[in-house]
Amino acid sequence: MIEAWNLTKKFDHVLAVDNLSLTVGQGQILGLLGPNGAGKTTTIRMLATLISPTSGRIAINGLDGKKESSQIRAMIGLLTEAPGMYEKISAYANLSYFSSFYGLKEQKKEKNIEKFLKMFGLWDRRQELVGTYSKGMKQKLALARALIHEPKILFLDEPTSGLDPESARMVRDFIVSLKEEKTTVILCTHNLHEASSLCDRVCIIKKQIIKEAALHQLQSTQQATEAEIIFAHHAQKYASLLKKVPGVQQTDAKGNRMRISVKNPEKTNPLVVKKLVEHEARLIYFHEMKQSLEEIYLKIIGKDNHA
Ligand code: ATP
Repeated sequence: MIEAWNLTKKFDHVLAVDNLSLTVGQGQILGLLGPNGAGKTTTIRMLATLISPTSGRIAINGLDGKKESSQIRAMIGLLTEAPGMYEKISAYANLSYFSSFYGLKEQKKEKNIEKFLKMFGLWDRRQELVGTYSKGMKQKLALARALIHEPKILFLDEPTSGLDPESARMVRDFIVSLKEEKTTVILCTHNLHEASSLCDRVCIIKKQIIKEAALHQLQSTQQATEAEIIFAHHAQKYASLLKKVPGVQQTDAKGNRMRISVKNPEKTNPLVVKKLVEHEARLIYFHEMKQSLEEIYLKIIGKDNHA
């Protein structure tokens, strides 16, 4: 659905994006992560054909980013950091104006405006000027605008920023529901919890892609180097036994729980469990502690900073 080859964008002397290639299949949600100034928004703006790349090529649903940009813009939905709504007219009038670009029939237009304003809790305030809206209300209205023509491809730049927790949850649930309709989404976010709960794959970028993978792949390549064990009795009596297992580097027992640090967990963890069973330990729970996306991200970004 979304393909980009060797995208580069230079703004005067600033190299914002450097030779970036990516592919997103239909119905997938790709997360774009990266520090401030990494080029995420620039990438989205190029993919949405709002700005041209300095070099490289884009295809959206098979349409060429350069020659067929108007068809592309008609089929995508875009939520940017600066959505540019008209402040001196009402929310309803804004949506009515923007939906007129998509050739929606009058009835469908009215139906969708009502649907999305109700979905985002703005229906009762639809006749108020956008200039009087709060930041979060403007963000919800911008989302409604991105969705008004029910696009099959969505670019969402920080969709939950500025939203209260309840609204942010509602937007996340809505993004999950898009999967059932096979909508393809690229999502920029600094909220790593959000990325791990929504995205099929994440790209960590810093001008270029420095890592691209599904979360479970990232977790398996980083390897869980800690495990937690819960016993039906005191844990301490097995600490010295486990220290002798090849690969176990450290044990820390408290009450009936023990944390172990291991090298090469795929080999070591089964040996640990085997040893405990052989010595008649009564095990309640063994848990490989997978790293969160936040830990993985910080490690990857940290390594890149020192490269
Ligand atoms: P953030 O997480 O802070 O939103 P980002 O990853 O979205 O950052 P971009 O907004 O894409 O980063 O910016 C990448 C780089 O390109 C930055 O150095 C920025 O200053 C520069 N840049 C972006 N747009 C322009 C522009 N219109 N003119 C000049 N420089 C720009």
